[in-house]
Amino acid sequence: MTNAAKWEAVIGLEVHAQMLTKTKIFCGCSTAFGSEPNTQTCPICIGMPGVLPVLNKKALEFAIRTGLAVNCTISKYSRFARKNYFYPDLPKGYQISQFEHPICEHGYLEIFVDNEVKRIGITRIHMEEDAGKNIHEGAGSYSFVDLNRTGVPLMEIVSEPDLRTPAEAAEYMRKIRSIVRYLGVCDGNLEQGSLRCDANVSVRPAGQKEFGIRAEVKNINSFRNVEKAIEYEINRQIRLLEDGGTVIQETRQWDADRGLTESMRSKEEAHDYRYFPEPDLVPLSVDGKWIDDIREALPELPDAKRQRFMEACGLPESDADQLTAERSTAEWFESAVMAGGRPKAVWNWIMGDLMKLLNEQNKSIEDCAIKPPQLAGMLRLIDEGLISGKIAKTVFEEMFRTGNDAEAIVKDRGLVQISDLSEIEKVVDEIISKSGKEVERFMAGDEKLLGFFVGQAMKATKGKANPGMLNELIKKKLS
Ligand code: ADP
Ligand code: MG
Ligand code: ZN
Repeated sequence: MTNAAKWEAVIGLEVHAQMLTKTKIFCGCSTAFGSEPNTQTCPICIGMPGVLPVLNKKALEFAIRTGLAVNCTISKYSRFARKNYFYPDLPKGYQISQFEHPICEHGYLEIFVDNEVKRIGITRIHMEEDAGKNIHEGAGSYSFVDLNRTGVPLMEIVSEPDLRTPAEAAEYMRKIRSIVRYLGVCDGNLEQGSLRCDANVSVRPAGQKEFGIRAEVKNINSFRNVEKAIEYEINRQIRLLEDGGTVIQETRQWDADRGLTESMRSKEEAHDYRYFPEPDLVPLSVDGKWIDDIREALPELPDAKRQRFMEACGLPESDADQLTAERSTAEWFESAVMAGGRPKAVWNWIMGDLMKLLNEQNKSIEDCAIKPPQLAGMLRLIDEGLISGKIAKTVFEEMFRTGNDAEAIVKDRGLVQISDLSEIEKVVDEIISKSGKEVERFMAGDEKLLGFFVGQAMKATKGKANPGMLNELIKKKLS
C-alpha cells in the first residue's frame, strides 16, 4: 500500500500528430491511409542514394498554423537535422527531424479540469518525417516492412512538465486533439495512430521543488490508456521509492492488455542519435507576412468559443467546454441558437438525445439528418405548448430518422398536445369515476397516488395531455 498523498507526480507529454497533407513531407507520394503495402513510395522516401528531398510547403504551413494556435513564437530561422539510428522501417538510416532550431517554441494551451482553467506550457513544436511500419504477422519466421508511411509529415508537440495528474494529461491530449481538428491539420485518430503520445512521468515528495527522475512511457493509443498508463507508472515509482529503491531514467512500454509498463531500454542503452544539420535542405527563413496571413486565417479556437458561449449564451463553463471540444458540434449548436433555439435547451438536446442517437448509429453530427434550424423549430413547438417534452422525444427520433420538420411530423401523426381544458376534464372525470379505491386513498392523504392519476390520463391520451394542466386539474378535483 502506498501513501500517495505524500507524493506528487510530474508529467510532460510528447505528442506526435500526422499532418493532413495530401503528399509526403519531402516527396510527392500520397499519404492516404490503408493502401496496399509499398504502393505509395518513391526513390526519395525509400531513401535511395543520390536523391534530394524538397520540403512540402503545406506541412510547414500546418506546423505554423498549429504553433500560432497554441501561442508559440514562430522561428524566423529554423532548420532540419538528421537523427541517425538503424531500424528496418527506416531505410535511409536517419530520420529528417528538427533539433536545435524547431519551427515553433514557447507556447501554451489551456485545459479545464476540476472546474478550473490551467495553463500548460508548450516547449516546442517541430516537423519531422514518419518512419515505415514493420508487420510481424504472417506465416514464416520473418517480418514485413511497409514503407507507405515513410515520409508522412509529423509534428511533434512537446509540453513543459506542467501536468500533475493522469486526468490533466488526458485532458491536455484531448485539447491537442481538439485544436488540431479545429485547424484541419490532423484528423486526431488515436486508434489509427495519426495522433500518438509518449508520456514522461516522475514523482517527488509533495512540497519538493526539484523534479524526480523520469521514465518515458511509449505505446499509448487511446485516451483511456493515457490515464491508465500514467496512473500505473506513478504508482510503480511511488512503490519503488517507498521500498527504498530508486527510479532510473529509462524508456518503458505500456502493455494495455496486461495493464502495466515494462522497461524497453535504460539511459545507458539509449541511442546516441548523432544529430547533425541536414545538408540536403537549406535552413528555413519564414516570411513574416506569410505568418501574419496564416494567423489572420485561423478559425475561432475552442477556448475562445468556450468563453463566448459562456458570455453570450449563459452556459456554465464545464458545459461550454464540453460543447466546444468538437468544432462541428459547436457550430451545429450555434446555428440552432441563431435559428431561435434557447441555448440551454439546444445544449440539452445535443448532449442528450442527439448524441445518443448519433452514437447508436455511429454517425457524426455532420451526417445528421436533423438540421440545426429544425431543432429550433421543434423547441418552438414545446415553448408554444403544442407538444409536451415527452412527445418531443418521439418527434425528435422521427426527425432523426427522416429529416422531416417537427411541425409536419406532429401534424401527420396527430401528436398535438391537448390543451383544451374541457377535453382533459372529460378524461380525468372518467378515470376518477373508475378508480374509487385510489381516490379514497388519495383523499386520505396518500399523495403519491397523484402519479397514478397522471399516468392513467397520459395513457388515455397517448401522452398528449398538457402535463401542467393535467396535474392542476387532478389536484383540484380531488382536494
Ligand atoms: P527527450 O528528448 O529525452 O525525451 P526532452 O527534454 O525533450 O527529453 O523532454 C521530453 C519531455 O519530458 C517533455 O515533455 C518534458 O516536459 C518532460 N520532462 C522533462 N523532465 C521531466 C521530469 N522530471 N518529469 C516528468 N517529465 C519531464
Ligand atoms: Mg522523449
Ligand atoms: Zn515518396
